[in-house]
Amino acid sequence: LGEHAGLKQKGVRVSRRADVLVLHGHVFTMAGNGVGYVEDGAVAIVGDRIQEVGQSSQLAAEYEARKTLDASGKAVLPGLIDSHTHSPEALMRGVAQDVPDYMEKAMAPFVRAMTPELALAGTRLHVLEALKAGTTLFMDYCPPYAGWAEFYDQVGVRARLTPTINALATDTLADGTKVLYEFDEAAGERAIEAGLVFADRWQRAADGRITVMLGPQAPDMLPVDQLMRVREHAQKQDLMIHMHVAQGDREHRQMADRYGMRSIPFLDSIGYLDERLFGVHLTEATSSEVELMVNRGASMGLCSGAIGLIDGIVPPAAEYRRLGGAVGLGTDSATSNNSISMFNEMKLTALFNKLSHRDPRTMPAWEVLRMATAEGARAIGLGDTVGTLEQGKQADLIFVDLTSLNLTPMLEAPIRNIVPNLVYAGSGHEIDTVVVAGRVLVEGRRILTADEADVRREAQAAAEELCRSVLRDPRHSELALLEAMRAGLL
Ligand SMILES: [Zn+2]
Repeated sequence: LGEHAGLKQKGVRVSRRADVLVLHGHVFTMAGNGVGYVEDGAVAIVGDRIQEVGQSSQLAAEYEARKTLDASGKAVLPGLIDSHTHSPEALMRGVAQDVPDYMEKAMAPFVRAMTPELALAGTRLHVLEALKAGTTLFMDYCPPYAGWAEFYDQVGVRARLTPTINALATDTLADGTKVLYEFDEAAGERAIEAGLVFADRWQRAADGRITVMLGPQAPDMLPVDQLMRVREHAQKQDLMIHMHVAQGDREHRQMADRYGMRSIPFLDSIGYLDERLFGVHLTEATSSEVELMVNRGASMGLCSGAIGLIDGIVPPAAEYRRLGGAVGLGTDSATSNNSISMFNEMKLTALFNKLSHRDPRTMPAWEVLRMATAEGARAIGLGDTVGTLEQGKQADLIFVDLTSLNLTPMLEAPIRNIVPNLVYAGSGHEIDTVVVAGRVLVEGRRILTADEADVRREAQAAAEELCRSVLRDPRHSELALLEAMRAGLL
């Protein structure tokens, strides 16, 4: 301090230390209500946090940095948040489209044949693919298996992991549209226990990069007493609940047959609707049910691409937001969505909502970009930690190369087209650099913390093994995909 005071008296700028200094970017802080644009912007990072955001001229003079990243010609944004996804399903990309019953006709056979080893190969593929497309926070939802959280830790991304809790026998999902599930209560108990053990181990692990939610898979997939116990555990351990809610016909039928109620009023009746709940899909939610969810403080996960492809439906996210509810965007999975790039998700969200409302003003580019960053963070309960580039927030940020042909021309002033181009013309392949918790994970489009070629080879072999295993079961000769192939269509 004494030394600094001395320098100040001599008229020399006080030098502050930064670990990483980002200079000359088109910085979008996403703070406030819009995109928070800073022309020729800079970000100073100390440890895992953002120390300061400002003009390059100012921060370059103030800071001495261990590493400087030149972001000239690049947009600098908070890392993108995928608020709902199932990473192991990356192995099933492209095998489950264009069918009337996604779960039964397309997905169930592959889920049956999944093993923990195959699941890990899927997760590894998913995480690297999404990281290269700018996803820094993964709300991953699957039965916990060895190596799942460890891989997130190793790569260095941020994850909010949800171990699936259900009381279903393995084959139940395939028949769910026809008969009332018989619950396997012992399986439910085991899943609750596994979820709690996982939460004990991983909540705030990896220097806080990994956190956990409890995941009752859907209101129809656990008996009511087990649902209530999960909720009590969530309260006791201050965990959020990540749950599929009102996600389709199957759930709707199950709830009507078992309780004579729809999912959302049922959840309200057992005390599930509050700030602790992150409810995903709401495919079948009515206006009054949306209002009830918002009024209770619950937030919503919107998976536009997946629900569009699986159901041909646009979930009521515009209404949710209009009522003041928080909505995060999710890819759901490579099986349901095929693309797990958040750029794809932002574009589909804007497009589908414009179509369904017959109004091009619905969900403008800046708004869906907020849903993938600041709003998404708020929806999943991490609004104080990530989602914007502001002092004190975690240093999770991405650089998008604005000199890519598909993002050209880049206009800054007096007309600025950067945000519309990112959302409507971006793909995710333009991501040049990714920083999470102050650590550079991708630089020059190359992943520094994992071997991409290895992961790709392993995923290819695992997917081929999964297919062989699916086809060994004679029940699967009727797969919709095989029928389309026999007809010469695929
Ligand atoms: Zn899901």
